[in-house]
Amino acid sequence: MTPVTVIPGDGPLVLGQPHVGTMIPPEVSVALNDCGRSVPDTDWWLDRLYAGIAARTGATVIRQEISRFVIDVNRDPSGVSLYPGQNTTTLCPTTTFDAEPIYREGRDPDAAEIDRRRRLYFAPFHAAMAAAIETTRIRHGYCVLYDCHSIRSVVPNLFPGTLPVFNIGTNGGASCAPALRDAAIRAAEASGRTFVADGRFKGGWITRHYGAPERRVHAVQMELAQSAYMLEAPPWTYEETVAAKTEAVLDRIVAAILAAAAHLEARP
Ligand SMILES: [Zn+2]
Repeated sequence: MTPVTVIPGDGPLVLGQPHVGTMIPPEVSVALNDCGRSVPDTDWWLDRLYAGIAARTGATVIRQEISRFVIDVNRDPSGVSLYPGQNTTTLCPTTTFDAEPIYREGRDPDAAEIDRRRRLYFAPFHAAMAAAIETTRIRHGYCVLYDCHSIRSVVPNLFPGTLPVFNIGTNGGASCAPALRDAAIRAAEASGRTFVADGRFKGGWITRHYGAPERRVHAVQMELAQSAYMLEAPPWTYEETVAAKTEAVLDRIVAAILAAAAHLEARP
């Protein structure tokens, strides 16, 4: 079982896909209940939605194949909460976004098991991510990390009401240069669809950990409402026509971010 897939590219863009994976190793699967094994909190289909964008931009894609229910590579490995004071799922979640248990009675992972998963399934993703960012930075002088996410548009346990379609996260402006954040906002605004910057989803651990504009590594997270491209309930069907319209907007957002980065980082 390979925990991470790397699709190399020669452009300045690294696309992170930390929650697309649905694989569950057998030793974890036996401890999960039926709800856990059905991995409802997957960022479904983002590999498909971003395939054209990745090809057109020459992006390096880093995709985690192991489900976030095994270990979430977008959480602080020390276990510190991403959103203190708010409901959020943890490094090795024991519930779904809706607070449904995902383990069989008494089978929640203990500290030793969490440590084992950290070594086997968390570390390889971050080794690949760190290497891709460094290779890109050496080749181009800078790197843009765009971290791809999606979530159901209505999750009362996590946020009130309905989520905007495009949720741009830059850790409150700290994970990228202001010009990239502004470019993403302008492109989202021009789409005429709902969006927010640094709202409920301001960037997970990947965005916060790797985003270092002073080192010329610019990280932007996109949390997309799943209603913009798929059915938000089993069997989680990809909706081709709706998805095509959303992909066109994402294409413009990514292009705007890359143009801003190229302009900013251009050296005489
Ligand atoms: Zn996600």
